[in-house]
Amino acid sequence: MANEVSNLQLVKKLNRISVLNIIRKHNTISRHQLAKLTGLTPAAITGIVRDLVALGYVIEKGVGKSNGGRPPVKLQFNPDSGYVLGAEITRNKTTLGMVNLNVKPLFLRKYNIDMGDPYEGISMLAQEVEKMIRESGIDREKILGMGVASPGLVDITTRVVKHSPNLGKKWCDFPIKKRLQEITGINIFVENNSNAAALAEYSFGKGKDSKNMAYINLGEGISAGIIQNGSLAYGFKGYTGEIGHIVINEDGPLCNCGNNGCLESLYAVPALVRKANNELALYNQKDTLKAIWLEKGSVTIEDIIANANEVDSYAWKLIRQAGWHIGKGVAAIINVFNPEAIFIGGILAEAGQSLLDSLRESVQKHAFPELVREVKIEISSMRRDTGFYGACAVAIKALFEGGVDALLDVELSSST
Ligand SMILES: [Zn+2]
Repeated sequence: MANEVSNLQLVKKLNRISVLNIIRKHNTISRHQLAKLTGLTPAAITGIVRDLVALGYVIEKGVGKSNGGRPPVKLQFNPDSGYVLGAEITRNKTTLGMVNLNVKPLFLRKYNIDMGDPYEGISMLAQEVEKMIRESGIDREKILGMGVASPGLVDITTRVVKHSPNLGKKWCDFPIKKRLQEITGINIFVENNSNAAALAEYSFGKGKDSKNMAYINLGEGISAGIIQNGSLAYGFKGYTGEIGHIVINEDGPLCNCGNNGCLESLYAVPALVRKANNELALYNQKDTLKAIWLEKGSVTIEDIIANANEVDSYAWKLIRQAGWHIGKGVAAIINVFNPEAIFIGGILAEAGQSLLDSLRESVQKHAFPELVREVKIEISSMRRDTGFYGACAVAIKALFEGGVDALLDVELSSST
């Protein structure tokens, strides 16, 4: 008997989540349409909607078109019924923000947090989280969760960072989810940064209509997040998309992973900046980037990007070269996963056309021709903050699809 009661409660909760998700996906919808779409009785719909309105997730909006009888009240999802935090962490820069349930940012800030030591770095992040919540003035119970986008290998079952060369050697088996949850008391959802960015592009970026797509993250490292049939492609443990470690020159420089000549060791942002600063010493005096190098003593990735579309300049050649080799990694993704779209993101994507042109040429040359003909390759719509928006998308997806306690464990209306 006790089992039957708990099963009934579970069914009621699942019905509530599925109704809420249908309302979220529609601009406005009537109770009648909800009953038709779910197959639930009008009485059940009335009860569920009453609960969702009482909880603040749904608002009643004006009146819809009448079919002769009483005009139906339209229902609408209330994006300000809850908030989530999102953070993208890198070795020295953390982006932290808060968004409503339609991913509209209330805060989006950058912090210089040294993540070299995971325990110290995560404690500092937690302090900033507390400050942000306080400053927002939002009730803590309305903060439904927090997503974190982390570089490196994130185990999908434990959400432990297994290994992250870009965060540093201390990031080995670090239980990031558990730790941050313990300090903040907030539901934490952790995802690899490229996976998170792919999810953002797919959920509300240019990739909205592409169920099979990849997001290529060109920053401190080079990696891909892959969406297959509308879901992230995880593989065995979640370590998919590590195209930065495709070896393109066995005699090349030592990579963070321990191999030599990985794509990332040659063409990720730190490698490009190093290469530019070395080569500019001997380069043509008339070059604009050389002039900056002479003036400042070194150039940054921002300097390189700012000059990347000046044809025949050093920066243009460097970015084209990077695009060509990165294109080999992208070709591998195309050959293996047959995506319909590829979105290029991360800092390097800001180089724009020169990067895109050479990358496309390289893909044409290196991927299977029939597959190339079908795929569009574009610069991501979200650029630098894609990881942050991805973190928010991860939290919101988990909340609405997994139905965490915040949405489920509220006293149910007796009429449902
Ligand atoms: Zn490597």
